[in-house]
Amino acid sequence: VQNHPAQGHRAQSILADVFGYANFRGQQEEIINHVIQGGDALVLMPTGGGKSLCYQIPALVRPGTAIVISPLIALMQDQVDSMRLLGIRAVALHSGLSFEEQMDVQNGLMRGEFDLLYISPERLLTHKMLDLLGHLTLSLFAIDEAHCVSQWGHDFRPEYLQLSILHERFSHVPRIALTATADQRTRKEIAERLNLADARFFISSFDRPNIFYRLTQKREARKQLLDFILKDHAGQSGIVYCLSRRKVEELTTWLQRHGVQALPYHAGLDSEVRHHNQQQFQTTDNMVMVATIAFGMGVDKPDVRFVAHMDMPRSIEAYYQETGRAGRDGLPATAWLVYGLQDVIVLGQMLAQSGMNQQIQQLERQRLNAMLGFCEISGCRRQALLDYFGEHRDGKCGNCDLCVEPVATWDATDAARKALSNVYRTGQRYGVTHLVDVLLGRSNKRVKSLGHEQVSTFGLGKELSQPVWRSVYRQLVARGYVTVTSETHGGLLLTEKSRSLLKGEEQLELRRDRYEVHELKVALPE
Ligand code: ADP
Ligand code: ZN
Repeated sequence: VQNHPAQGHRAQSILADVFGYANFRGQQEEIINHVIQGGDALVLMPTGGGKSLCYQIPALVRPGTAIVISPLIALMQDQVDSMRLLGIRAVALHSGLSFEEQMDVQNGLMRGEFDLLYISPERLLTHKMLDLLGHLTLSLFAIDEAHCVSQWGHDFRPEYLQLSILHERFSHVPRIALTATADQRTRKEIAERLNLADARFFISSFDRPNIFYRLTQKREARKQLLDFILKDHAGQSGIVYCLSRRKVEELTTWLQRHGVQALPYHAGLDSEVRHHNQQQFQTTDNMVMVATIAFGMGVDKPDVRFVAHMDMPRSIEAYYQETGRAGRDGLPATAWLVYGLQDVIVLGQMLAQSGMNQQIQQLERQRLNAMLGFCEISGCRRQALLDYFGEHRDGKCGNCDLCVEPVATWDATDAARKALSNVYRTGQRYGVTHLVDVLLGRSNKRVKSLGHEQVSTFGLGKELSQPVWRSVYRQLVARGYVTVTSETHGGLLLTEKSRSLLKGEEQLELRRDRYEVHELKVALPE
């Protein structure tokens, strides 16, 4: 591999002349030069970081056709369409094309008419396609969404495993694997399974320094949201994510009634309406898009000033990706979220009904718990977030809620012990509302009919208020002392970890919920 300054120069002029950008971003230039010179690469870059250019420019500089392997037909077509607009000779081959169209593409390939071919892994791996590639001059292979090779990830695609064949059959063609989600383990897995032992790793920082993270307990979520928008982002663009379509509709109407310019977006809307709303959002600077996670792919609006979550996302990865749509222009933006234990229960139920295999469900449940854990930390948010992506950083960021307003903690050892034994005494199958009723000694109908006035924890927790007990339970879940099971409709179950706490071998500090201190004025033990 030799250095050709002239090629570096070509990369620069293609960036300007073809794509219309003045400068490379982050590690783009290094990556591009490495691939132009024939090196293999593994690129880890957050969403929106500019991965595509890393193979598109080498594809234009190196002789021959670049093969881009992508798992999603919709994305493929999008990319090809926008490249064509730039005058790039790109094409996609997928099952959405008619037989004639497919033949045209193949003939064009044989004549060397394309600089880039986008293709799905299953199509690429057919004998016919591999034979065809054997007759072409290939400039490179780009393997997009490379984390799909990971059997432990939720995007696992079995066909990705067979992509190691590319190295065997086309050993002289450089390969660049790209992904936005890869912890250390997945990174290693990608390198192993794709035979990228000699590849150079390009790992970009996941930090988004201009995003302020603010996460708080859900109380009156709508009012909390309105308050946030009016105080911090009045008249600006933002995205508000909700879990359900119904909630999207209702919240949109409610926000409109309260003077916020809002539009809905979810998969249940007419494609025309969807398109229109997206267009509106894209072209106005004071529009709030209320959406399910169906809204996101291909959203590239630089001045989104906030992303709000009305429900907890299913994982930290999802949270990072969704909040990452804020502040693409580098100016200050906010990632705002309200959460509650109910979110964990609902997401857990959705998971249980998803039909995914047990092993995957187990992993997803762990991701969900990690997300709740992230909501409940008391250190710096950014530090925790980056830590999760394998990027360790000393010192607090100074630009998140917990840095700006540190949370108070209290010694909750006794309370936690009572809360846990209460779960045990009542048979490990009841939800938080009932559990708290028992602790507070409330002889309501349910408590009576279950005979829970007789358990030893009945009335044992009168020194704390209901919201404090709820907070204790939520934090016990977040810290893994109890789990919420969907089989028991949100009932709490003790974990192995709870033992030492129950036996009195462990101390526990919990966060004091902010609203308890400031607004609800609930008495806490000093
Ligand atoms: P990723 O695939 O990493 O999510 P993309 O390749 O889609 O990111 O790029 C995200 C956006 O950033 C696109 O709109 C792209 O045109 C833009 N972009 C990429 N590189 C540059 C650059 N060097 N200068 C300006 N904009 C860029
Ligand atoms: Zn911080």
